[in-house]
Amino acid sequence: MVATPIGNLADITARALAAFSVADVICAEDTRVTGHLLSAYGISAKLVSLREHNERAMAEQVIRWLSEDKIVVQVSDAGTPAVSDPGARLAEAVHRAGRRVCPIPGPSAVVAALSASGLSTTSFLFHGFLPPKSGERRRVLAGWRDAPFCVACYEAPHRLLDTLEDIVAELGPERPLMLARELTKTFETIRHLPAGAMRDWVTSDSNQQRGEIVLIIDAAPPLDEPEALDEQTLHTLAVLAAELPTKQAATLAAQITGANRKVLYDRALAMKNADKD
Ligand code: SAM
Repeated sequence: MVATPIGNLADITARALAAFSVADVICAEDTRVTGHLLSAYGISAKLVSLREHNERAMAEQVIRWLSEDKIVVQVSDAGTPAVSDPGARLAEAVHRAGRRVCPIPGPSAVVAALSASGLSTTSFLFHGFLPPKSGERRRVLAGWRDAPFCVACYEAPHRLLDTLEDIVAELGPERPLMLARELTKTFETIRHLPAGAMRDWVTSDSNQQRGEIVLIIDAAPPLDEPEALDEQTLHTLAVLAAELPTKQAATLAAQITGANRKVLYDRALAMKNADKD
């Protein structure tokens, strides 16, 4: 499984070129695209087409080649095979046949975008392409309302605006986003904006609705921790709550102690409920 550049041909790795040179067969998503890459490096090789619709049938052929000790390379048009691209079924079939699948790592748009994001990527979710239909897309987005990790998606340029509208609707206009467009290419653009402002910017500049796009939705802001109340504050609140209606007790306790009235109110309610039990 050999990764290839996502735009800038100079991102090819030495191991990828070596693999192309020794390969008996190179399986490519689009043989013209890979032919262009090979000719840029002066390599001629036997290219065959392996794409989603013939991946299963081709897997059988690849296993036959491997059993004849042939070296078979799998590439996609750009980036790492099997990442939102053909290759996973092939790898699975080759493993099942007891043959070796060897990764030759290199570019991948999602990792390139994350690496330049400046966001915390201790953990992240890679979703690939979002559903094309708005209803389904909104259901998926809603699942990330409280996500404590960022989510990276691939997005088609003609769907970008609709997706941004859905993000604003489901995650709110303040949710921080990053748009990574045309990475490693002439018009490489990386922009951080809250969802509402991103939608407005993309609306006002149609160039942003062109090319190849990775969209990163930042983690949800942490939920507010309830304010910790010290012993003195709790005592004041308990005395007042024993004599006064909850609301009044909380208001007075807030004035006396400086603690948050809502936090005091919730705590006074809890005290009264505990007394009832
Ligand atoms: N397997 C590939 C990889 O590892 O990057 C991804 C293949 S997926 C079919 C293609 C999508 O990746 C594009 O629609 C776009 O969302 C993203 N992509 C590919 N190249 C890109 C680039 N140069 N800049 C930004 N996104 C890119």
